[in-house]
Amino acid sequence: MRLSQMLFVTLRDDPADAEIPSHKLLLRAGYIRRIGSGVYAYLPLMWRVLQKVSQIVREEMNATGAQECLLPQLQPADLWKESGRWDTYTKAEGIMFSLIDRREQQLGLGPTHEEVITAIARDMIRSYRQLPLHLYQIQTKFRDEIRPRFGLMRGREFIMKDGYSFHADEASLKETYQDMYQAYSNMLRRSGLAFRAVEADSGAIGGSGSTEFMVLAEAGEDEVLYTEDGKYAANVEKAVSLPADIEPSRFTSYEKRDTPGTDTIETVSQFLKCSPTQVVKNVLYQTVYNNGITVLVLVSIRGDQEVNEVKLQNELTKLASDYKATTIISLSVPNSQAQQTWTAKSLPLGYIAPDIADDYIAANQQIHPKFLRLVDPTAVDLKNFVTGANETGSHVVGANWNEQFKLPEQVVDVRKARPGDRAMHNPEQVLQSTRGIEAGHIFQLGTKYSQSMGATYTNEQGEEKPLIMGCFGIGVSRLAQAAVEQSYDKDGIIWPVSIAPYHAIVTIPNINDAQQVEIAEKLYTQLESAGIETLLDDRDERAGVKFKDADLIGIPYRIVTGRAIANGKVEVVERATRKSQEIPIDELTTTLHKWITTGIEVKN
Ligand code: ATP
Ligand code: MG
Repeated sequence: MRLSQMLFVTLRDDPADAEIPSHKLLLRAGYIRRIGSGVYAYLPLMWRVLQKVSQIVREEMNATGAQECLLPQLQPADLWKESGRWDTYTKAEGIMFSLIDRREQQLGLGPTHEEVITAIARDMIRSYRQLPLHLYQIQTKFRDEIRPRFGLMRGREFIMKDGYSFHADEASLKETYQDMYQAYSNMLRRSGLAFRAVEADSGAIGGSGSTEFMVLAEAGEDEVLYTEDGKYAANVEKAVSLPADIEPSRFTSYEKRDTPGTDTIETVSQFLKCSPTQVVKNVLYQTVYNNGITVLVLVSIRGDQEVNEVKLQNELTKLASDYKATTIISLSVPNSQAQQTWTAKSLPLGYIAPDIADDYIAANQQIHPKFLRLVDPTAVDLKNFVTGANETGSHVVGANWNEQFKLPEQVVDVRKARPGDRAMHNPEQVLQSTRGIEAGHIFQLGTKYSQSMGATYTNEQGEEKPLIMGCFGIGVSRLAQAAVEQSYDKDGIIWPVSIAPYHAIVTIPNINDAQQVEIAEKLYTQLESAGIETLLDDRDERAGVKFKDADLIGIPYRIVTGRAIANGKVEVVERATRKSQEIPIDELTTTLHKWITTGIEVKN
């Protein structure tokens, strides 16, 4: 491609609204253009990168036997009502764009395709003989994200590969899951990315687990905890660890103490000269179930620990049927304004005990009249502990479960694992923290959708069973930007060869020099016919401008038809290392071909 004929506009300065390097660089180098919040145009250079990533994804998927298809983006609301997700997706979470057509029918724009694929499976899969089956597509997804940001990283319109598998038994699902684990690792490795596969939260759906593929980068929105021995890595949302040891209590008898001005764990433990590991902290949450009922939740946990709200949310979802609901739509720590909506009298905040009376909750049809009391195992183990006295400025010391306080029935692990904690698999290993960009997520779904939507098959014994499902997503556009986030320098992007929009750029320093032009044109034709994707910078610009642009757009090899041509050579500069060497003109094509193919193979 000739630069002179391309829509090629680069910006000298960083665009004001871009925060992270990859977003700035893709805008500056003319790869993408913002059209609206979280909505971007993929310009020709970007489209080539996206097609390369898609092709790698496609090859790896096909190699596992999965089949490509294309499902509709416009999805009837009825399907989502069958699965029970319409209200959560359009109202509660509000992630799905919805619309009404001229026949007054409700539709949604696909944020994901479980409903559509399950409807197809319900109609078309009859027998175990058709299983296992795995269909995937590469397509634009729509999600009305609360905070679209960082360019393609979190868009409202983005490209995803999503695949859905159907199985007769768990063993078959596990096999496909393992194949996908390998395929996803291959996709990321081939795209030139440093990544880590981590245990992930599967939400309240349960299933037998899920793995996220994290591209390691400072700008990542996720925190990953891992151990040096390589045996453990998990998203902090899911991570487990051993809590620090309990320090023995200095209190031997139960009594109430005046503890003025100690409404935090830190101040109370200083005041009472005790370790935070001796305190039972009682944290108040407010959750709304999908039938509109608000439940006040009191979580008792050891003072030095924090609540992991993802784990808490999963536990509350499991308890939904106790409140005649099926899921929760929000979870928050009630601020003073929120408290006013349900308190009958003012709460002794900072001094709450595990047995705070239910009559703090004002009678109201929309509010459950009793606190839901949960206790984390770290608090269960405590003896002679300190906790609030349900009275501002007072605590109790030397308390014990089932003496002064009834141990809540619901003992649930809602503790947040933190860097520095000891690992479960080996207490000598300490959890480390790093940041990652979630590029892919593979998931053992089980029968959630097949059951709600009635997608069954007949097994060998002639019995009708719900299909067992897996789902596997990878963000094609997010992955492409993540590659930039991992690979750039002060001058611009450094594309991995395998996903670079072009392999080489032939730069003519002076287009008024007929010999330079002639050699460049010849090389351009030769390289292209050898399958080396090449740009020809034939613009009437100063050499310095051309070099800067080539660096900015990050093409792996720059060939300059400058001074060296007097000796029958051209200068070749490797973008990543800036190594420059002169290569005889007639050897250029074979040399570059070798470099590019080995560059790609190394990643394979
Ligand atoms: P996140 O936690 O980042 O919102 P998710 O859990 O919602 O991601 P999935 O529903 O599992 O993501 O989607 C599969 C993949 O699609 C993700 O791993 C990610 O690479 C990509 N993806 C998800 N949301 C976006 C988005 N708003 N913009 C770009 N890519 C996205
Ligand atoms: Mg999301």
